[in-house]
Amino acid sequence: MIVGIDLGTTNSAVAVWRNGVAELIPNALGDVLTPSAISVADDGSVLIGSAARERQSTEPTRTATAFKRYMGTERRMMLGAIHANAEDLSALVLRSLKADAEAFLGDTVTGAVITVPAYFNDRQRKATQRAGDLAGLQVKRLLNEPTAAALAFGLQTREAREPFLVFDLGGGTFDVSVVEMFDGIVEVRASAGDNRLGGEDFNASLAAMMRSRIDPDGRFARHDARLVEERLLVAAERARRLLTSQDTALFAVTIGDERFEGIVSTEEFEAQVAPLLARLRDPVVRALRDGGLRAEALSEIVLVGGATRMPAVRRAITKMFGRFPSHAVHPDHAVALGAAMQAGLLQRDAALEEIRLSDVCPFTLGINVAERDAQGRFHSGLYSPVIERNTPIPASRENRYSTMADNQREIVMDVFQGEARLVADNVKIGTVSVPVPPRPAGGVEVKVRFSYDTSGLLEVDVSVPLTGVTRNLVIVDEIDSPDAATIAARRESLAALKVHPRDQAENALLLERAARCYEDHIGDARIQIGQWVTAFEAALDDQRPRAISEARQQLSAELDQLDGERIL
Ligand code: ADP
Ligand code: MG
Repeated sequence: MIVGIDLGTTNSAVAVWRNGVAELIPNALGDVLTPSAISVADDGSVLIGSAARERQSTEPTRTATAFKRYMGTERRMMLGAIHANAEDLSALVLRSLKADAEAFLGDTVTGAVITVPAYFNDRQRKATQRAGDLAGLQVKRLLNEPTAAALAFGLQTREAREPFLVFDLGGGTFDVSVVEMFDGIVEVRASAGDNRLGGEDFNASLAAMMRSRIDPDGRFARHDARLVEERLLVAAERARRLLTSQDTALFAVTIGDERFEGIVSTEEFEAQVAPLLARLRDPVVRALRDGGLRAEALSEIVLVGGATRMPAVRRAITKMFGRFPSHAVHPDHAVALGAAMQAGLLQRDAALEEIRLSDVCPFTLGINVAERDAQGRFHSGLYSPVIERNTPIPASRENRYSTMADNQREIVMDVFQGEARLVADNVKIGTVSVPVPPRPAGGVEVKVRFSYDTSGLLEVDVSVPLTGVTRNLVIVDEIDSPDAATIAARRESLAALKVHPRDQAENALLLERAARCYEDHIGDARIQIGQWVTAFEAALDDQRPRAISEARQQLSAELDQLDGERIL
């Protein structure tokens, strides 16, 4: 069985294509969204999803969220005694989704289509692929998130459509795609994006503004810096969501017995995040220009991603396009559903027979070169594009280059992704070198072929016609291309982690939520929560199902009330 997985910065989801439809799969809690959060409990067991997310504020040193932002980097995060990078943590999320799918389908899940931000670079894509591998999933295809959403949107009606634009603003990334649909072909004409723009940035901006407001005397300095930071971010997330339905929101942080609070209004928030809103424009303009379209030619603006729920973002979009966006797809579900459709396409499902998908490479790929100017001066570090952005994929292009120096013995080529004229301003993704026979400058030619596949993975082949020598891309850092044995060892060590049991998921979540609520309040509310938790824990110890269920319902209802309490 192959499933489709939306591995998000904030939330992940898994879906399956069966009986001619894409269907979301619920997790052990019955939710179709699983927070991309991991936490390690005191006994060393690993919590994944909602229970882990509750611990972001109560156990910040044992919890990781938004780790997708570090995908493809060497950054390691510490969760209690466990050190892990974004790839390992993502593998844990994937494994949990795999277990949910297997429980739901009653079948083994062997492979997956995993979505990635269109603007994810080669390193980030390869890291995502390895995360799947570590989770015991064969990654059948990496699919661009806005393309997945476009599939879900396009296949909803299956009508020929004027071009539409997918606007996907999630927790950590922003993607825009211009898509057309005709004769069963879903064709992405252009994609653009910003890898570092999402709800998390709005949180950080709001937290920075509120920090001095709620703590004018610098009392935060007396507490652990990481704890303060996490609490501020969690408070920002809450206040920001409240601002989606209210004009003002309470921004409150409790640390120990100290309470810090302040009020933030919609206007203040919007003014504060204006620089972030301004950054939404560039990728839109670029996608339209590359797609050869003007905004008026678009039939619809399709919103995807939870952060498009922010009224400030909606206003910015409405202003940008001079009209209201469409809500034809569910912003949280479309990507996973599209991934499931792609899984159906790969399995050649009959219901999808006449559908074809054509995507593009969203960024330019090329190498560094040197040039001599008219005066014979040498300029190095220049970018020579091989595959231009928004070329339909799969794509294969060849360029020819020749030696620059007399008796040069080797040609070293750095491979870059990006649009800047100077390679220093682009992202380096690898290096390849090839020996050449000594000749006068310009005397040896090399052919450089870039092949970019449908998952957005790049292969580079270099050959020297004079000698017949060929070389493949060699990635610079060892860490980037671990061998099979290393991967197997990492897979085993992940498998050895004790994951909190699925059938206990609901109780675990409730206890974590109660712990968070306890810390959020002071005084009587806190004493009250303490008593409820004690009662619930006593029921759990007695292991009487009926008593557990009653205590759970009671605790849960009471926490709902505390969480939902309107303070304004
Ligand atoms: P990702 O795909 O990156 O995991 P999602 O599409 O799930 O992200 O979107 C997550 C983002 O959406 C978070 O930053 C979250 O704060 C934001 N979000 C979700 N619901 C709301 C809401 N009601 N109001 C404001 N922001 C929201
Ligand atoms: Mg998303």
